[in-house]
Amino acid sequence: MRASQFFIATQKEAPQEAELPSHKLMLRAGMIKRLGSGLYTWMPLGLRVLRKVEAVVREEMNRAGALELLMPAVQPKELWEETGRWAVFGPQMLKIRDRHERDFCFGPTHEEVITDIARREIRSYKQLPLNFYQVQTKFRDEIRPRFGVMRAREFMMKDAYSFHTDLESLQKTYDTMYQAYSNVFNRLGLKFRAVRADTGAIGGDGSHEFHVLADSGEDALAYCESSDFAANVELAEALAPVSARGEAKEVMREVDTPKQTSCEDVAALLGITLQQTVKSIAVMATAEDGSTRFYLLLLRGDHTLNEIKAAKVAGLENFRFASEQEIRDHLNCPPGFIGPVGVSGQVSVVADRSVAVMSDFVCGANKPKLHLAGVNFGRDLPEPVAVADIRNVVEGDASPDGKGTIRLCRGIEVGHIFQLRTKYAAAMDAGYLDENGQRQTMEMGCYGIGVSRIVGAAIEQGNDERGIIFPAAMAPFTVAITPIGYDKSEAVQAAAHALYDELLAAGIDVLLDDRGERPGVMFADMELIGIPHRIVIGDRGLKDGQVEYQARTDAAAQTVALADIAGVIK
Ligand code: ATP
Ligand code: MG
Ligand code: MG
Ligand code: MG
Repeated sequence: MRASQFFIATQKEAPQEAELPSHKLMLRAGMIKRLGSGLYTWMPLGLRVLRKVEAVVREEMNRAGALELLMPAVQPKELWEETGRWAVFGPQMLKIRDRHERDFCFGPTHEEVITDIARREIRSYKQLPLNFYQVQTKFRDEIRPRFGVMRAREFMMKDAYSFHTDLESLQKTYDTMYQAYSNVFNRLGLKFRAVRADTGAIGGDGSHEFHVLADSGEDALAYCESSDFAANVELAEALAPVSARGEAKEVMREVDTPKQTSCEDVAALLGITLQQTVKSIAVMATAEDGSTRFYLLLLRGDHTLNEIKAAKVAGLENFRFASEQEIRDHLNCPPGFIGPVGVSGQVSVVADRSVAVMSDFVCGANKPKLHLAGVNFGRDLPEPVAVADIRNVVEGDASPDGKGTIRLCRGIEVGHIFQLRTKYAAAMDAGYLDENGQRQTMEMGCYGIGVSRIVGAAIEQGNDERGIIFPAAMAPFTVAITPIGYDKSEAVQAAAHALYDELLAAGIDVLLDDRGERPGVMFADMELIGIPHRIVIGDRGLKDGQVEYQARTDAAAQTVALADIAGVIK
């Protein structure tokens, strides 16, 4: 590719809203452009990277025997009603209506669609096992889109779904997928860790998440250095002994005139301190008498949402975090009256008809003013109920396998594999005829990779003050040729063209910077966009048949004979 014909749109500064290095650098490099919250255009430069990731994922999926197909992004409501997920998937699902007043969603995932294919197309045990995959755009209306493409609303996922006659066959494909995922992340040059994840109601040991290791990762991982125990913190906490207690107070509906107050005032009134970890959270729960009520969980000590999720509250069954909409409906308050609820790291306070939500991101300089009614604890908030069984995991705890101590690190979830068993097949009646002509329900697995998230995660792992350091396998170009005086020297131009042609012929992705820019500008651009190899051709070196070579990770350039340079790259 010639830079003069390409679209290089680098910027010196990243917009204010970008928090993480990867997000800043992707914007500065001109890889992506923001259209709206969680919506990004992949510009030509960024798309080259995305396509390289996609290609590696495809190759490993194909090698593992999976078959590519492509399902519609838009899915009818009726399918989701069969599994009951239309009602329970929640606000992450973007629901849409067509001109005939029929309901659809923009697919956040595709279990229903693929299970519908399987039940129509698969008749006999002889056709199984089968593993279908696609690389496709998903939409999830994330409560807090952030970090650019890492937590976007529209994003690219590779999702695969396998069908089996029995658990043994499912386990085999699951293991194959585990290996294929490891191959993908190894080939992409990422430091990653596979960890066990909770399988919830399905139970068993049939789920792993793949995390790119980065301090900025949203997920906490627990692992043991002296054994192979590794789990996401949710599962590690579920396996850990009870470590804390708290209490819950029901939120009443009596109304006082709201008045404005500060986070600190609310906290003081409720007797809590503001911390990034959660001290209180609004939950919806079934009480002992079977009624559904809203509660404010007030916790003793600081807790993460994961700990609260793992908690059992005496007298409350099945509690879950209440959504902003639910609280608003319950308290009958107008839009804009409350902030989002239920995001990791939030402190939320619900008092009387007023709801105040404090998030970790507003605990800093720009604290919002909160609406608060005059709360009367005797009247508005009844006596607390005990919260039991909060399980906490900290570094140095005994590993659940008893083979050492727990260490914690942070990760970015880039892949997730799951043994679904018969959950979807049973709900949607996806069966096959066995050797005896008996109808059986299919076993099923699902396997996701966040293709677009990987790009951000890789940059989170590879960057310095000059810009992105791409692993070779996903760099937009492998080599940059930066001729000095391209416009002025025929010798430089001829040497640059000859090398360009030679590298192209060798199948190397090369970018020839023929823009006639100053060396400083060219170098800064090539370093910012993370090209692994740079070759500088200038009149001075050419006299001795030499060029300058510098790898993106090298501190300084070295002189190499022009005749040898292609060999250095290959
Ligand atoms: P997370 O915990 O980060 O919200 P998830 O567990 O909801 O992810 P899965 O349903 O397991 O995601 O989807 C498979 C993969 O899709 C994830 O491992 C992740 O890499 C990717 N993914 C999920 N949500 C997003 C998003 N909002 N933006 C980009 N990639 C995403
Ligand atoms: Mg999610
Ligand atoms: Mg997850
Ligand atoms: Mg997941």
